[in-house]
This record gives sequence, C-alpha cells and structure tokens, in this order.
Amino acid sequence: MRPDPLPASLSTPVVTPLMPSVVYASATPDELDLQYEGYENGYTYSREGHPNADVLAARIDRMEGGQGGVMTASGMAAVSAVLMGCLAAGDHVIGGDQLYGRSLRLMAEDLPRLGIETTLADSTDVDAIADAMRPNTKLVLIEVVSNPTLRIADLAEISALCRDMGVLLAVDNTFTTPALLKPFDHGADIVIHSVTKLLSGHSDVMAGYVCARDPDLNARLETFVVTSGMTPSPFDCWLGERGLLSFEVRLDRAQSTAARLADHLGSHPKVSRVLYPGRDDHPEAARAKALMGGQGGNMVSFVVPGGREVANAVARGAEGIAFAPTLGDVGTTLSHPASSSHRALTAEAREALGMPEGFFRVSVGLEDPDALIAVFDRALDGVPG
Ligand SMILES: *Cc1c(COP(=O)(O)O)cnc(C)c1O
Repeated sequence: MRPDPLPASLSTPVVTPLMPSVVYASATPDELDLQYEGYENGYTYSREGHPNADVLAARIDRMEGGQGGVMTASGMAAVSAVLMGCLAAGDHVIGGDQLYGRSLRLMAEDLPRLGIETTLADSTDVDAIADAMRPNTKLVLIEVVSNPTLRIADLAEISALCRDMGVLLAVDNTFTTPALLKPFDHGADIVIHSVTKLLSGHSDVMAGYVCARDPDLNARLETFVVTSGMTPSPFDCWLGERGLLSFEVRLDRAQSTAARLADHLGSHPKVSRVLYPGRDDHPEAARAKALMGGQGGNMVSFVVPGGREVANAVARGAEGIAFAPTLGDVGTTLSHPASSSHRALTAEAREALGMPEGFFRVSVGLEDPDALIAVFDRALDGVPG
C-alpha cells in the first residue's frame, strides 16, 4: 500500500515538514542505481539518512562553518563516532582531564578495552598536552570551557601543536556554541555538539552533531554513524530544528543574565568564589576574552563555604529552580558536582580540581534577571553563618 499523494498546493509550508518514513520507495532498479551511484540524490532507509536530519545538520553547518555535518542520536554518540570512527587498536588519543563525564569514561574504560591507548591531560596548559604526545598519538579531544569549573583551554597553542605534529584536533563545542567560538576558525579538524543542550535548548530532544573539515574523514564518520546505528529519529531532528531557530535570542538573554548573576554573586558576602569566563577575576580571563570576544556564556559556577548542610540549604532554598544535572534549558538549572557528576571522586580529588563541597554550577535560563537574582539571594539567606 502506498500513501496517497499530498493535496496539491501552490503555496508551500513555512515550517519544515516532519518526515518519519523509515523507507523510501523507488520506481525501478535503474532509479536505485542512479541514487547509489551518486548521480541523483535520494533517500532509501532512514538509518542511512533522512530529510529532517539533513535539514538540521545543514543549519548547524552554517553556524559552525562546516560542510556535510552528521546528526547523531545524542552528544555521546557524536563523541563515540569520533573516537571509534577515527581510531584503531594501537593508536593513542589525548583527552582534556576535565571533559564531560561520559567522555572521560570512554577514554578511561572503553577505548583501552579496544586496544586504543588514552591519556588525560590538563587542556589549560599546552605543555601538559605536549608532554602527553607519543609517536602513535592520532587525536586530541578537548572542550574549550570545562565543566563545571569553567576553565579555558589553551586552544590557540594546542591547535598549533596538533598541526605541527600531524595530530587531529577534535573540539566538543557544546558549552561554547558557535555564538561564542567557532572551532574550525581556530584550526580544529572536527567539531562535536551535544545538540541536547543549548542548540535545541528546551530539554526535550536528545541529539548530537559531528563534522570533520576534511571531506574524506567526514565521510568516514558518516559511514560509522550509519553502520553503528547512531542516526537520530526524524521527530527529534524536527524538534531540534524548532528549538535551534531561537538559539541566538535565547543565548543572548541567558548570557546577559549570567553576567549579571556572576557579578551579583561575586560581591555576595556568603559566596567565597565565582567562576565566570566574562569576569576579570577568572583564572584565564585574558584567554577567554581573546577566544570568545568578551562573551562569557550562560554558565556560572560559585562556591559557598561549608559542608553538606550548606549545600542542602542552597539547593533547597533556590525555589523554582530545577536542581538537575543538565544545562542549556529555557529554565535555569542548578547542579552540585559533589553529589552528581563528580561523586565518584574523593573529596580530596574534587578539592584539587577546585570543586569543594559547596561548589555549585548554574546554567542560566530565560527567566526575568531581577527575579532570578532574588531567588539566589533568598537561597543564600538560608545559609547558616
Ligand atoms: C551533555 C554533554 C555531552 C553529551 O551529550 P548527550 O546529548 O547527553 O549525550 C557531551 N559533551 C558535553 C560538553 C556535554 O555537556
């Protein structure tokens, strides 16, 4: 049974149609040949590609300055596609030591099991990355702003080092987004996104994106995504595109509120430390400014001195703010690494990373800035001392 043709319309829809079809029918074997041989464009089976993924990928390509980027079912699928689609047993890969938790786990647990050697190194220090290089190093994976301590990678020097040594540089641009920084402009070979976060922006889509500058490498990544079944659903891509349409406006609002919140917390008597890449007291303030043109993003981290009771008081007191370990939503979210993303570390190890018990990370959303600041004031009022 074939679907009936759509009713004729001289006018066209202003929204991308959702196309959930898993299979696409051809008229003849000759037509299939034309598609498979690349003489004509066409879809066959949605794991191999579908219109909603291609429309969304093309939008992100334009933002990043890439070509032929590939959508994946999650940000981790995009990270996995890079590490498993580019590397072979016997290769060595270097990762930033403050990468996203699951990326760290891939490096620590899964790649070694497949015979791929891994080293984690401090990406704020090019010498640490240089020291980790081996003759069989094939790829370096970094994030420019680290989570949750918001430290800034030495992108310019790491990029130059990778170029000199013929090593691929992959940048996970989830936190920074192309509005703050375009990794291809800084010499990156591969750009990765968790589209789940700021790009789609409503916490209702899981998706990822990966694009390599070299077309041959990009084709290899795409083949790996298709073969390993990482293709996202048409509906998620459709919803992701809907969210992406407002990305720039959302980021502007969230970023300007984040800068105000950071300054407010910075002068609050109960806060001992604020980390925000747009502030002059940030440990890599000059580097942040050079890379992101004075923009600080929507993430703010801060420390309230004290133990678990103090942390509980802050989380409980921040009424109306989701205490949840994600970021980039329309609503502000608050997370506490010591009880979530970094709970596997000892208190000493967290302390060494600059993340004591009273360390919080805020992903600033779209609320009224004054109302949001008032919520934090009330939460801090509830802290003893
Ligand atoms: C969330 C995140 C990921 C993983 O993305 P998912 O869509 O959750 O799989 C990867 N990198 C960074 C920096 C992230 O914040």
